[in-house]
Amino acid sequence: METSIAINNLSLSFGNLEVLKDLNLDVGKGEFLVLLGSSGCGKSTLLNCIAGLLDVTGGQIFIGGRNVTWEEPSQRGIGMVFQSYALYPQMTVGGNLSFGLKNAGLPKAEIEERVNRAAKILQIEPLLKRKPAALSGGQRQRAAIGRALVRDADVFLFDEPLSNLDAKLRADLRVEIKQLHQKLHNTMIYVTHDQIEAMTLADRIAIMRGGRILQLASPNEIYNRPASKYVAEFIGSPT
Ligand code: ADP
Ligand code: MG
Repeated sequence: METSIAINNLSLSFGNLEVLKDLNLDVGKGEFLVLLGSSGCGKSTLLNCIAGLLDVTGGQIFIGGRNVTWEEPSQRGIGMVFQSYALYPQMTVGGNLSFGLKNAGLPKAEIEERVNRAAKILQIEPLLKRKPAALSGGQRQRAAIGRALVRDADVFLFDEPLSNLDAKLRADLRVEIKQLHQKLHNTMIYVTHDQIEAMTLADRIAIMRGGRILQLASPNEIYNRPASKYVAEFIGSPT
């Protein structure tokens, strides 16, 4: 499999707190990789390093074969979706979707085309003229996904995008995200602490604990052949 993202010996500390420890991870092109681990294990920190929102303490990050370790976030060719919707409240949904593209200096017609295409895929066309305050949680999260989608990025980073939603909506959007990936074949790193989300979405799951990856394998393999007692208990394998 062709590699999309390669992370080599990555470490990150906040002062004396060592959060990521000599971490290695390869993600294949078009792969849906889920980072699964309990709260505080370093999932968001890892995602933020890949996105370029945090400076690493050591190691390298490659995207599409290019060393992006010291590149600006906007140069890395990624789309990111956060847990809290992070939409601009004063702008309409359409404004939110087009904002980054305007800043990047894309022609108006191209912006319109990308926004309309994303809105169609996510079924938020009727919402483009509304402001975030007038949307439900699910609609907001769709809009946030739309904002990543319009960037036409090869790589998407999702940080617990569904954790603020109720169970029914979470299940619906889970299916939609899976379908979206099957349509776009983009490389996806999806962070969650939810085992079911990980099992249903992932091509491979990376189980994280204390800033390290304990096991990286298909959902099936992790469930049936957990590498340790911790993994078995975390994933709920029969013992
Ligand atoms: P997760 O996303 O898996 O819940 P995080 O990556 O957010 O975990 O956090 C990992 C650890 O790093 C936690 O102990 C957290 O308290 C700490 N941490 C995260 N961000 C910062 C920061 N900006 N400054 C100091 N410590 C932080
Ligand atoms: Mg987090």
